[in-house]
Amino acid sequence: MKDKMSLHPETYAAQAMGATDPVTRAVIPAIHPSTTYVRDPDNLYRSGRIYARADNPTFDPAEALLTQLEGAAASFCFASGMAAATAIFQALEPGDHVVAPRVMYWGLRRWLANFAAQWRIEVDFVDLDDPTKLAQAVRPGRTKLVWIETPANPTWVLTDIAATATIAHGAGARLAVDNTVPTPVLTRPIELGADLVMHSATKYLNGHSDVIGGMLATAAQDGFWDRVQTIRSGNGAVLGPMEAWLLQRGMRTLFLRVDRASRSALRIAEYFVGHRHVEAALYPGLPEFPGHDVAKRQMRGGFGGMLSIRVKGGENAAIATAAAVQLWHRATSLGGVESLIEHRRSIEDATSLCPPDLLRLSVGIEHPDDLIGDLEQALDRAHSA
Ligand SMILES: *Cc1c(COP(=O)(O)O)cnc(C)c1O
Repeated sequence: MKDKMSLHPETYAAQAMGATDPVTRAVIPAIHPSTTYVRDPDNLYRSGRIYARADNPTFDPAEALLTQLEGAAASFCFASGMAAATAIFQALEPGDHVVAPRVMYWGLRRWLANFAAQWRIEVDFVDLDDPTKLAQAVRPGRTKLVWIETPANPTWVLTDIAATATIAHGAGARLAVDNTVPTPVLTRPIELGADLVMHSATKYLNGHSDVIGGMLATAAQDGFWDRVQTIRSGNGAVLGPMEAWLLQRGMRTLFLRVDRASRSALRIAEYFVGHRHVEAALYPGLPEFPGHDVAKRQMRGGFGGMLSIRVKGGENAAIATAAAVQLWHRATSLGGVESLIEHRRSIEDATSLCPPDLLRLSVGIEHPDDLIGDLEQALDRAHSA
């Protein structure tokens, strides 16, 4: 794609950066299943490729596109979102201090609480929707990483990225942002001061519930990023070539999917505010939602496809509602073209902070009226039983 010309991000995405195959002239990039590369007769590896546990040319379109969309210096594909996130923590030194949010993706919070101790990383979980609490939690010189997720699973609490970056940098720490939920379509953390951006590519980036993958983007190609790369190849935390190819295909429609999901989620949230069977609708796009002002400041073009509703009648009514849907799929995960509903507390463990009456909704690209109608009948059935 013309490098001098500055194009809109939608255009870069649609063409996965415009690279066509130089050998065959194919419009769509090739899949490279090869695990190994030919060494030159003079004993060098001029191609820069040696072995596919280190990297694979099939990653290039997805990595180049994420770098562009996030305004980053470089990106890497990983075997999963967890592989991407844990590579950042594993790149820390023993004894380093980390501040992470109390409300965050449960699987990673559990990993941090249980396994970071084995890496001798010290973690404090803090309510990071309030920057003054971060200012109290950082230990200048010892805190090396501040981790945030915004809007955060499953209550969609907002964290002010720019204010957090200022405090993190003041203490000598990097700021890493889990940008899985807003995607770079809606939030670009590096522009707001973040150093690292993480994605579960399983979710919106791929968008079709058929790839487990992760990605990281960095603001600077520094020594820390070199360690992340070494960890990826050393741990073998690489994406498979077929998955990488599907990922670049999914990313081409990212803008269409996120835009549609955001508009539908707003409509669904507005519909269920004050509904007779709903205690509360949690969605950053609602003016009364705490954090709406932060969301308006740092999210552009929408508030994302994720929302939650708290069902009147408590946990049993919430589970009965999820049981009664016919169109929404009752499943964990998010960010696919098909809408998912989940009683979140049932999948988290005893340490869950999720309210028991909460249903998490991942809005797909179906017609919003069909989604509203199905939820309406499910709530009615749950409350008439
Ligand atoms: C799913 C998810 C992860 C973990 O990603 P995997 O691809 O499942 O390993 C991390 N953060 C968020 C916000 C997620 O939704």
